[in-house]
Amino acid sequence: MNNNIAIIGSGFASIAAACYLAKAGYTVDVYEKNAQLGGRARQFANQGFKFDMGPTWYWMPDVFERFFSDFNKKPSDYYSLQRLGPSYRVYFGQDDHVDISDSVDEIRKSFESIETGSSKQLDIFLKKAKSNYDVAIKDLVYKPGLSILELVSRKTIFELPQFISTIHDVAKKSFKSQKLRQIIEFPVLFLGAKPSDTPAFYSFMNHADLVLGTWYPKGGMKAVVDGMLELAGELGVNFHTNSGVSQINCGEDNRVRSINIGNTEIPVDLLVSGADYAHTEQLLPLKSRMYTKAYWDKKVMAPSALLFYVGIDKKLANVEHHSLFFDVPFDNHAREIYDQPSWPKEPLFYASFPSITDDTISPKGKEAAIFLIPLAPDLKDTQELRETYFNIIMNRLEKLTKQEIRSSILFKESYCVQDFKDDYNSFKGNAYGMANTLFQTAFLRPKLKSKKLKNLYFTGQLTVPGPGVPPALISGKLVADLLIKNQKK
Ligand SMILES: Cc1cc2nc3c(=O)[nH]c(=O)nc-3n(C[C@H](O)[C@H](O)[C@H](O)COP(=O)(O)OP(=O)(O)OC[C@H]3O[C@@H](n4cnc5c(N)ncnc54)[C@H](O)[C@@H]3O)c2cc1C
Repeated sequence: MNNNIAIIGSGFASIAAACYLAKAGYTVDVYEKNAQLGGRARQFANQGFKFDMGPTWYWMPDVFERFFSDFNKKPSDYYSLQRLGPSYRVYFGQDDHVDISDSVDEIRKSFESIETGSSKQLDIFLKKAKSNYDVAIKDLVYKPGLSILELVSRKTIFELPQFISTIHDVAKKSFKSQKLRQIIEFPVLFLGAKPSDTPAFYSFMNHADLVLGTWYPKGGMKAVVDGMLELAGELGVNFHTNSGVSQINCGEDNRVRSINIGNTEIPVDLLVSGADYAHTEQLLPLKSRMYTKAYWDKKVMAPSALLFYVGIDKKLANVEHHSLFFDVPFDNHAREIYDQPSWPKEPLFYASFPSITDDTISPKGKEAAIFLIPLAPDLKDTQELRETYFNIIMNRLEKLTKQEIRSSILFKESYCVQDFKDDYNSFKGNAYGMANTLFQTAFLRPKLKSKKLKNLYFTGQLTVPGPGVPPALISGKLVADLLIKNQKK
């Protein structure tokens, strides 16, 4: 039996795949280039502050429950969760913000206060969003993307019009208020594409947002990584850090034979890569790659980002755990990400202050702040630009929240396009993979299984089902199921 599986990378998808494969009886070794495990969900610690470097929103708790239940476990066996209320705050301008409550009734009231009659529209919209969520979870996202036929069922066939219209169309049709439209369009930004390029079917993300809610794992998203690593340890998975794979060696029989890590060659029976797909292909001889450079260049990547991790020497006023700053035109920034890639003239930004909820994240009386500006991938990235944008968002933050912050900053670390490339071998410095546009959905995404090499598989945010932590867990399950099924043939 081909028993040894090597997995490249230790992101959520790789750890999930490792758990399923170890449970099936394989000997699994995970090789991670960085010193810390968890992929983009690493944590940066400094002076008693802790910062999630990547994901900060815990959505779709049912997907995490399903993952752990596959091992007869629960998330609460490994980490503790709390639902945030409000889920988040959206700033639209001076003295103008909306809190998105953890109760749908309260959200209806907020909508109604902005636009008369909009709560009824919200009910109609959320009913459809729920039915889409059920179809997505039951019939779509847990499919391996092998063929278009996977998408065809009695339920999905009726949803075809929703793949022709977009989230932007539906938001525009349902609500007159620009603010309400932006609240509705926000969740699909997680999928990496413009709302006007994202099929209306993805309104299931609004169900995840407004109904299922925003949750927080105590200790941050790293607690989820640590929980999954604990499970993987119980299942016997071996992890190797500082172990970047520099080459994949293939035999004449169209099989991967071994991988190189530094000067060491490690024989493998089966290989799964959870590293960025485009990068993994670069490790292969040219004739064994499935996709050309032209193929990758044509793909719509999810945005990159400029991030700041900031330690602040006091508690802040007028901010929530998750705060969105939509006080500048949404469409202009979207254009600068997707249509005319350039540094935004007036950036939207997101701020997270996890120390509002969690006293283990910062020293007492201080605030841990994470700021994120979405950017087009592959932009020129310099220290001067990072500094310019830090000042832009600080000016707005101080003005909108009516307080002086800069003199209380103890330290700040920035993270941007070049870091994504250097740290994760990220294609074009993407932050969260390949966008879920209509033509980059399901069977149209890069495949889980190599067509060129019999024992090579891929997982993670560039393959099915797409970007985000819950999809990464699903991707790990999909690749493990496919590999196990193929080995039985
Ligand atoms: C800033 C940011 C914010 C985000 N916010 C959210 C959020 O709030 N909620 C949410 O659900 N999702 C969010 N996401 C998306 C989510 O984090 C990702 O989709 C998910 O973590 C990707 O997991 P993955 O396993 O596919 O890949 P990764 O986490 O990228 O893991 C791939 C791993 O492979 C390693 N690797 C690469 N090359 C090699 C090599 N040659 N040898 C060995 N190892 C290698 C990398 O170092 C990395 O550790 C965010 C992402 C970012 C970057």
